[in-house]
Amino acid sequence: MHKGSCLCGAIDIEVAGDLPEADACHCSQCRKQSGHYWASIDVPTSAVTINGEDHIRWYQSSEKVRRGFCDTCGAFLFWDPLHHDTIAIAMGCFDQPTGTNIWSHIFVADKGDYYEIEEGVLQRDR
Ligand SMILES: [Zn+2]
Repeated sequence: MHKGSCLCGAIDIEVAGDLPEADACHCSQCRKQSGHYWASIDVPTSAVTINGEDHIRWYQSSEKVRRGFCDTCGAFLFWDPLHHDTIAIAMGCFDQPTGTNIWSHIFVADKGDYYEIEEGVLQRDR
């Protein structure tokens, strides 16, 4: 089991089992919401326990996706595809050691022009 939280601690997250490998998303929506690119893991919603759920505010960023953040500290924690039984959780919220790593960079065509992605890591346009 792995634990995480938002910055202020109003929202606690527990994920059962090992954390899967993470993606770093460079799309403009993730960059604007997070302030840089956004690393997350996709996990089955059934593996996730949230305490303080009433502190999550949801921003519907498209017809099929909502993005969750803390109503107190603003931590961007969740990317929730509404019609799937998985949810993406921000890597930055987890207590260490996480036991995982970033295995791919996605939406690299949309990345910011002020940084480079390291060589040797999988990069995908979507
Ligand atoms: Zn918070």
